[in-house]
Amino acid sequence: MNYDKQKYKVWNWKSPVILHWIINPGLVINELILGQTIPKVMLIERDGKKTFYQRSLVPCPHCGELHSGLKYSAQNKTAFKNWFGFYCDNCKEIIPVQRNLTALIILTITFPIWGWFKQSIKQQWLDKQPDRYKNLNLEIIEKKNTTKNWLKSGLFFGLFMFITMQVILPLIKGEEITQKNFLIGIPLWLICGLGWGLTMKWWMNKKGKENTAHNNVQK
Ligand SMILES: [Zn+2]
Repeated sequence: MNYDKQKYKVWNWKSPVILHWIINPGLVINELILGQTIPKVMLIERDGKKTFYQRSLVPCPHCGELHSGLKYSAQNKTAFKNWFGFYCDNCKEIIPVQRNLTALIILTITFPIWGWFKQSIKQQWLDKQPDRYKNLNLEIIEKKNTTKNWLKSGLFFGLFMFITMQVILPLIKGEEITQKNFLIGIPLWLICGLGWGLTMKWWMNKKGKENTAHNNVQK
């Protein structure tokens, strides 16, 4: 589909956020267990004082509707359980999502197990979707204690990555878990986690450009 590139920044697999979704093996848990996912294409409004979340749009390739990013968010309890993609409440189709590479590999290997049930699971999932999109709040809810929130999510992410990379991964590979894993792993993932938390905080509150003139568009 063609989008107005002057009005929107178009994000696809080449953009850092979606690329990160593809390559980070830790996100396999988010995708396969929690059903958290990311659209293949996202549009970010260039102008406006609104925050990132309010400027991000999820286009439906089936009907062309531009859904607010807030439609698929924790505040509407729709950020998770999206195993088959994002449900379009306009045309009832599924908006395609970008799969995490590790998740894709696991899904491919285990296909003989779940492949048989795919259609019935998908139908059950699809039947539940309309209800989830009935009472949506597309206004951003100002969160209190934002400092605590980024700290908490950063530390949680750091801890999660630490356990995955320094404990679970060596166990899978049959390597010994040594003191070195902890000496390097703890500070490394602490810094990475806090960095991630801060980036998310900055990114979610990032405002668009205030000028409305479209003639000085970069790129
Ligand atoms: Zn649609």
